[in-house]
Amino acid sequence: MLRYPVRSRRISLCYYGDSEIIQPAHRGDFLAARILDGNAIREQIYGELAAEISALAAAGIRPGLAAVLVGDNPASQVYVKSKIAACEKLGLASIQVTPPATISTAELVAIVQDLNRRDDVDGILVQLPLPPQVDAKKILDAVDPAKDVDGFHPINVGHLVAGRPTLVACTPSGVMEVFRRSAIPLEGANAAVLGRSDIVGKPMALLLMHANATVTICHSKTRDLPDVIRRADIVVAALGRAGMVTPDFVRPGATVIDVGINRISDSAQAENFFAHFPERLASFREKGTALVGDVHPDVASVAGAITPVPGGVGPLTIAMLMSNTIKAARLRRGSRASASAPAAAAVPR
Ligand code: NAP
Repeated sequence: MLRYPVRSRRISLCYYGDSEIIQPAHRGDFLAARILDGNAIREQIYGELAAEISALAAAGIRPGLAAVLVGDNPASQVYVKSKIAACEKLGLASIQVTPPATISTAELVAIVQDLNRRDDVDGILVQLPLPPQVDAKKILDAVDPAKDVDGFHPINVGHLVAGRPTLVACTPSGVMEVFRRSAIPLEGANAAVLGRSDIVGKPMALLLMHANATVTICHSKTRDLPDVIRRADIVVAALGRAGMVTPDFVRPGATVIDVGINRISDSAQAENFFAHFPERLASFREKGTALVGDVHPDVASVAGAITPVPGGVGPLTIAMLMSNTIKAARLRRGSRASASAPAAAAVPR
């Protein structure tokens, strides 16, 4: 039994397995959210970046990204592989450094400093999490702020707070691209950011504030979370809690951005999540697992616009990493380039 009313007779979305294509179907006499397609937006961004890459190439500059992958965490390996693949797709140079899981903080700092000195490295990303013996803050602080394409260095975070141009964390930058390219108005809107992590919630809230939204930041100690969410025109969910945002939390017509990526393998949970999505349920039964966000899929029956999982925010995180790498190359080596075209906008720049 669902514990909230689903307003549409049928959810009008089609999921095609894990192909990451989710399209509206059967639009008609019931409310169905507009689907904000992250894959399509990523392709737009890549198209724009290609022009800037060509301009840099004409000046003899090939932007380069260095990925530091410590140990053999399988999830981290998958993430780094996707980032390197994106570099290859766009023609950026990439370097992988793969020290063992036993590395010390001092040894890893030395690796980062070496990358800081290399002229062919424009962006440095240190894949998190790091092993417990490594002081992650010291490592992130060691990255040259001019090469900090993840936007995690305190100097870049400070610039973001002050509303100065800087390298901004990729996932929230990607969400801003969704708003901008989908013409979703932010000025004066009530925005609820669910989660206050350094990599998503905090920078997201700052970006929305700089875009003149009225922002409420929610976390595990927030009282009456559903009530706060129901007042929002814009909801950004970054909780790491599968399907926690249900339709009864959401104001009809609100824009809902689902940052969460959670893998479920429990059948009862899948039955609940996909009761109105037979294709997804069938895919789950076949594979025994599925990716879901922090927003219950039935929220599409209430929201005005929504990002799907998969195929929403996820593709944009890597797109913004590419954008930041190109931007870092332009800013650091740009006097050698004739190009002046801006990379896809992170806000503020
Ligand atoms: P995180 O560091 O674990 O932070 C989670 C935040 O949610 C915390 O601020 C926590 O509050 C809050 N929270 C947790 N449970 C809550 C509850 N029941 N009620 C209210 N607030 C609650 O997670 P994260 O790194 O920000 O990631 C969030 C999600 O986004 C994860 O699913 C992650 O996989 C996904 N993600 C996706 C991408 C992408 O590319 N699409 C990128 C990054 C992250 P406290 O601060 O009080 O503990």
